Amino acid sequence: MVGGGNAAFCAAIAARQRGAEVTVLERAPEALAGGNSRFTAGAMRTTHQGIPELAALMPDLSAAEWARIDVEPYTRGDFLDDLGRVTQYRTDPWLAETLVERSFETLLWMRSQGVRFLPLYGRQSFEVQGRIRFWGGLFVEVWGGGPGLIAALTRRATMLGVDIRYGHRAISLAGTTRGIDGVIAHTPAGLATMNADAVVLASGGFEANAALRTQYLGPGWDLAHVRGTRFNTGDGIRMAVDIGAATRGHFSGCHAVQWDANAPEYGDLAVGDSFQKHSYPFGILINSRGERFVDEGADFRNYTYARYGQEVLRQPGQTAWQVFDAKCDHLLRDEYRIRQVSKVTASSLEALAQQMEGMDTARFLDTTVAFNKAVNVDVPFNPSIRDGRGTRGLLIPKSNWAQRLDTPPYSAYAVGCGITFTFGGLHVDANARVLAQDGKAIPGLYAAGELMGGLFYFNYPGGSGLTSGAVYGRLAGEAAAGS
Ligand SMILES: Cc1cc2nc3c(=O)[nH]c(=O)nc-3n(C[C@H](O)[C@H](O)[C@H](O)COP(=O)(O)OP(=O)(O)OC[C@H]3O[C@@H](n4cnc5c(N)ncnc54)[C@H](O)[C@@H]3O)c2cc1C
Repeated sequence: MVGGGNAAFCAAIAARQRGAEVTVLERAPEALAGGNSRFTAGAMRTTHQGIPELAALMPDLSAAEWARIDVEPYTRGDFLDDLGRVTQYRTDPWLAETLVERSFETLLWMRSQGVRFLPLYGRQSFEVQGRIRFWGGLFVEVWGGGPGLIAALTRRATMLGVDIRYGHRAISLAGTTRGIDGVIAHTPAGLATMNADAVVLASGGFEANAALRTQYLGPGWDLAHVRGTRFNTGDGIRMAVDIGAATRGHFSGCHAVQWDANAPEYGDLAVGDSFQKHSYPFGILINSRGERFVDEGADFRNYTYARYGQEVLRQPGQTAWQVFDAKCDHLLRDEYRIRQVSKVTASSLEALAQQMEGMDTARFLDTTVAFNKAVNVDVPFNPSIRDGRGTRGLLIPKSNWAQRLDTPPYSAYAVGCGITFTFGGLHVDANARVLAQDGKAIPGLYAAGELMGGLFYFNYPGGSGLTSGAVYGRLAGEAAAGS
């Protein structure tokens, strides 16, 4: 296995269970290992038939807890529709079908490997009249988030006898499109060739490589923050292409979110994903020219957050401000309350604008006045549904959850763009086999996780990344064991 994140460990465990000798090569030192998977909150999207089925996934939850929860079933059709809609129907139907069909059984399998799950209370539910109502098709979270996921998978792999080697960077594949003989890697002891009957590439995308970002995503992307690991620099894609593998997917596209404007260049494991700022549907988003530039309430956050990072990158200074009034304080997610937050507050919008560095104060005030006038107050505000409480007559509308900014104190949060992962990658089939440019599978070469192309375009339904890594990692591991 090349890589040591969720996809690689799912592959390693599945291969070991099929009787293969397995070595995991992880480029990072142990203290920084776990890839982007470790940075996640552990949200995983899966189909389910509602509470009876979910209870099998979360046997630790008491009957009293289930009794307070309202969650609609999330069917195969719902997941496929979401994938189709957010990717503008470009997602590969075979890859999508496998992801969706195998999502729930793969989570059950992970559970049997020691990964525990619980409802995603904090991020996907609102309490309405004493009931906890889930929304947006996303219900499942790994216990302990990304760190808990990596710890559980590492524990299981170690128990099964998988040989995990940290500080080992694979640099090329030994073999050709007719067959794979192993991997050449930089190891702490020097360059080494490691023979193998099969190789699973699960070493992430190229989001941490500023040069490749600029080359594929375009000018300005070198200036984005990297939300997660610094080690996903596109090695796996390059290694496979070097021996004749085909690429696929949305190479000029990526998942990128609004991220604290003053966050470090790469992710910080102590802060995890709390630099993200995802409550923008309840406020307005405004650039330093004092202009709004997106429909903040176009859809539930899960369906817009992955696109809006790049909208911020396009603004002057690659930054913007999220502005809220006191009515929204209780709706702001936990990440707004961390110590490392770029926030200003004031008792009037004028005073707020003066504190927002570089802001065109006059234009900001014009924009907020126009916005307040345009809010359709006849429709009740309800954060747990697409409430249709929009604006009327604005060039850039806000379609849901529009509320006037009229209740002090006001707050504004400075955000930039944080890239999560890249969408373009290797051409694989629905059995995780890497294809050569002639469309034939390369014997013994598999790929899973972020470096697979063809699944996500433009956007992705939140929580699909880990599920994709688990589904395709497990498939790749099982197939590699049979090679
Ligand atoms: C802050 C953040 C929050 C996120 N939240 C969620 C979420 O809640 N739910 C969700 O579904 N998705 C989430 N994602 C996306 C998710 O992290 C990825 O989709 C998923 O973790 C990818 O898994 P992976 O195993 O393919 O890659 P990774 O977990 O990134 O693992 C790749 C590994 O390969 C190693 N590597 C790289 N090059 C080499 C090499 N040459 N040799 C050896 N090893 C190498 C890296 O060190 C790394 O450990 C989030 C991402 C970030 C950054």
